[in-house]
Amino acid sequence: MSLLLAFLIACSNGPSAPAATPSPAPAAAAHADAGVKPGSHEDWCAEHAVPESQCTLCNPSLAAAFKATDDWCEEHGLPESHCKKCNPELKIERPAKLQ
Ligand SMILES: [Zn+2]
Ligand SMILES: [Zn+2]
Repeated sequence: MSLLLAFLIACSNGPSAPAATPSPAPAAAAHADAGVKPGSHEDWCAEHAVPESQCTLCNPSLAAAFKATDDWCEEHGLPESHCKKCNPELKIERPAKLQ
């Protein structure tokens, strides 16, 4: 018997995997709840790293307001003020959490 085969057999006789895997913790909220105060710490889209109240990716209906103020990157489909592809230095800071 080869050593490799012996090893595989030994392994297959080992303790079986735990039956109950711990359920994953609820994922941190990626998106703000409806009704949060715009500009607050809670008003944040973690997925797109912009304030949720300004996230045109989550709320495409917001795009019109940006287009109306000429703040729109047609190429990337984002407000120009959110477009990191056009503005690599851009950093949108999440508002600090108020105690
Ligand atoms: Zn978003
Ligand atoms: Zn762009």
